[in-house]
Amino acid sequence: MPSDVRDLLAVQPGHRVKLSDHPADATPGFDGKKRQAVQEVADIGRELADLQERLYAAASEGDRRRVVLVLQGMDTSGKGGTVKHVISHFNPAGCRIRAFKAPTDEEKRQHFLWRVDRALPQSGEIGIFDRSHYEDVLVVRVHDLVPEAVWSRRYEQINAWERILAEDGVTWVKVFLHISRDEQRERLLARLDRPDKHWKFSPNDVRERELWPDYRKAYTAVLERCSTEAAPWYLVPADRKWYRNWAVSQLLLAHLRDLDPRYPPGAYDPAEARAALLRA
Ligand code: AMP
Ligand code: MG
Repeated sequence: MPSDVRDLLAVQPGHRVKLSDHPADATPGFDGKKRQAVQEVADIGRELADLQERLYAAASEGDRRRVVLVLQGMDTSGKGGTVKHVISHFNPAGCRIRAFKAPTDEEKRQHFLWRVDRALPQSGEIGIFDRSHYEDVLVVRVHDLVPEAVWSRRYEQINAWERILAEDGVTWVKVFLHISRDEQRERLLARLDRPDKHWKFSPNDVRERELWPDYRKAYTAVLERCSTEAAPWYLVPADRKWYRNWAVSQLLLAHLRDLDPRYPPGAYDPAEARAALLRA
């Protein structure tokens, strides 16, 4: 394992991105077999759980830090699977999970960041976003849902908003799940093969798939323009689910280790409290 998988996966701020230079079936930072990756993830599970508990505990004494995992990627890229995997490490009570769908009428009447702001985790919590404010420069751009003059200003707005929150204690872990077009076909076909997966398929998925080149352009713009020091993007090859899970777990571990949250000392003298309790 590399000393820091973040260095391998982060999109350098201000750099050009060519998605075709990033094979979706690659496994940066891991050269073992699937079984080993699954074992490694199981091995770090305890540390992840411990770090989360410390983050949560620290908030009780005013530590404002919190983590937001942002998952973006094409249909079938594994956003939902990643949520399920990540939550398996943590105490769900300390997590805030939100999937963003097409905005409701109420949401449409607000600034596009409004609904995302409201879904942010509180201090000590881990927020997990299945889609996010980035849809407002992805699906919205691809389908011309607002004029270009509007969506083109959003990159800067997003950067500014993410920076303000970073300064207030938010650790952003933004993950682009990068799958190949072939893998997407396989996964969509698999949904059609199984009656218990039919509900996940929509004929609209085929129309969206036809817009693959437009989406690649839109994703490239996001990675190039919104990977910042305060909130970098990580490009995670996601054709192999076991690698995707390994990589996202490692990213969370690296960030939580850096945060190094501490159990707060109680605001009382434990010896006195013990004596009082024995007398009570
Ligand atoms: P799914 O993730 O398969 O449940 O689908 C959610 C749908 O909501 C996707 O088709 C997204 O493109 C769409 N969606 C999410 N956010 C937005 C947004 N801000 N504007 C328009 N559509 C959105
Ligand atoms: Mg869908």
